[in-house]
Amino acid sequence: MRPHTHVLFVSVLLRICGGSLDFKVVDLTHDHSNTTIYWPGNPEYNFTILARGNTTGGYWYESNYIGTAEHGGTHLDSPAHFYKDRLRTHNIPIENLVGPGVIINVKNKAAEKADYQVSIDDLKQWESMYKQIPEKSIVIMNSGWHERYPNASLVFNTDSPTDSSTFHFPAWHEKAIEWLISERSVNVVGVDTPSTDFGQSKTFPVHILLGQANIPGAENVANLDAIPEAGSIIFVAVTKIYDGSGGPARIFATVPIKDTSSGCSHGLSFVLLMCALCIFIQIF
Ligand SMILES: [Zn+2]
Repeated sequence: MRPHTHVLFVSVLLRICGGSLDFKVVDLTHDHSNTTIYWPGNPEYNFTILARGNTTGGYWYESNYIGTAEHGGTHLDSPAHFYKDRLRTHNIPIENLVGPGVIINVKNKAAEKADYQVSIDDLKQWESMYKQIPEKSIVIMNSGWHERYPNASLVFNTDSPTDSSTFHFPAWHEKAIEWLISERSVNVVGVDTPSTDFGQSKTFPVHILLGQANIPGAENVANLDAIPEAGSIIFVAVTKIYDGSGGPARIFATVPIKDTSSGCSHGLSFVLLMCALCIFIQIF
């Protein structure tokens, strides 16, 4: 075989197994709708149909007006939300809104204690199961609370969802946030509940610490059971609101998958590639 034939052979093998580099995309976002949950005091979501129907021009046309507070549903808290002179929504660097997904599973603890706060031990337990929390990670608590959405009484865990003093839901402990800031490098810290501070917080230390460190927060993240606790890449695509203190975000993850259509896995691709290289070396 001539060299170019070998290059072709290797490239065909890679093409056969090319799908093994594929990934699936998982949506981690609740619908933005009339059921969207806002913190008490915010105006309600406004979805007004401006046009929906056949036009005199013979074509169909739809257009709507939307009015929404920044902090509702699946959304981002910009660092300026709780700290003066920190990044507002439009000037958060886009590369700070992407990173390796680190999902801290505290579902059992939150089921036992609604006021649970994620601890340094929870972070170290993740590291003992996987590896050190990667640089520029997006670290999100999975308390199982996302399954309660959009029922406000269940999400805020109270019979009085307009009275924040009655709220009981889990989030982060400030000691864990201090540790993430000083010992690791994180791009975003998130929760599947309505606040990065737990429901009974009156002083919001997690919001303040994250703001001071110019780290955005993500709240009401959905569907966290559909991604692995390690190995995904998470994207926090917040609407680029000028001077915003946050904003609605389409949060999603990419997760590597094996390609079942070609019957090739990462391992099989590697073996085939090695075989091809061996043949190449033997002949030349
Ligand atoms: Zn918020």
